[in-house]
Amino acid sequence: MAAGQRMLQEKGLESARLECEMLLSHILGCQRHQLYIRGNEPLSPDRLLAFRDMLERRRKGEPIQYILGSREFMGLVFHVDGRVLIPRWETEVLVEYVLEKWKKKPAPVHILDLGTGSGAIAVSLAVYLPGSLLTAVDIKEDALLAARENAKKNGVADRIDFLQGDLFSALDSSVYKESFDAVVSNPPYIPAGEIGKLMTEVRSYEPRVALDGGEDGLHFYRRIAKAAPPFLKQNGLVAVEMGYDQSRSVQEIFLGTGKYERTEVRKDLAGIDRVAAFYKRREVPNV
Ligand code: GLN
Repeated sequence: MAAGQRMLQEKGLESARLECEMLLSHILGCQRHQLYIRGNEPLSPDRLLAFRDMLERRRKGEPIQYILGSREFMGLVFHVDGRVLIPRWETEVLVEYVLEKWKKKPAPVHILDLGTGSGAIAVSLAVYLPGSLLTAVDIKEDALLAARENAKKNGVADRIDFLQGDLFSALDSSVYKESFDAVVSNPPYIPAGEIGKLMTEVRSYEPRVALDGGEDGLHFYRRIAKAAPPFLKQNGLVAVEMGYDQSRSVQEIFLGTGKYERTEVRKDLAGIDRVAAFYKRREVPNV
């Protein structure tokens, strides 16, 4: 344990001790606090090998969540690996926003999650909105496999439809015409030129398609803003997560289409605008 900690410390990892404890308790199949009792037990050769292997992966920069194979999000456990982006705490702001809208209404709600990745958003909405139906889209087949696994793990696979495709092109527009109460997305929003400046953990290990938001990072907001309205019910909304400095641009993009009439913004715990929701403009029938 101490040797492992030194190995990670040399790499300059501030949380070396914590991470070592996480890896070791994972290997021993116990809780972290139990290490204070079990910490002096000699490791079997298999376990020692596994521990060394994990330390080495971490030392090279692989995110600890991929090594452990899981990440907690909205109080639920998600399997994660290199196929999908690791769910971030900020994304809980998006999920909470949607829950706030529908938690008290027992009516069935149909929600579309674009770029579902690990399924973090779709699965948590399905869990916390027991009357809901979800459609989850991703361009990557392997991400959808991970998302399906997470839906099963959390007992909601029967209420989520998984579709492969590039945003709305995954949906048949006649079948899904005005079908959704909400379209939600945490799209890739890092400007392409900035990906190289991110931490190794992100840059070298997380899927690039999950990060790259095009030249200015706003590519997916433009596409979603433009394409969502025909798929939304009359009172429908689009809610998206945004990068730390994108609130204004995202609002301009959505409102600039003339297809939305009301905006709501939510901040994350750091006080940064993190989620914006846009309500579809009501069509006034011609008289
Ligand atoms: N929807 C997933 C999440 O919020 C993945 C998002 C992404 O890959 N950009 O974690």
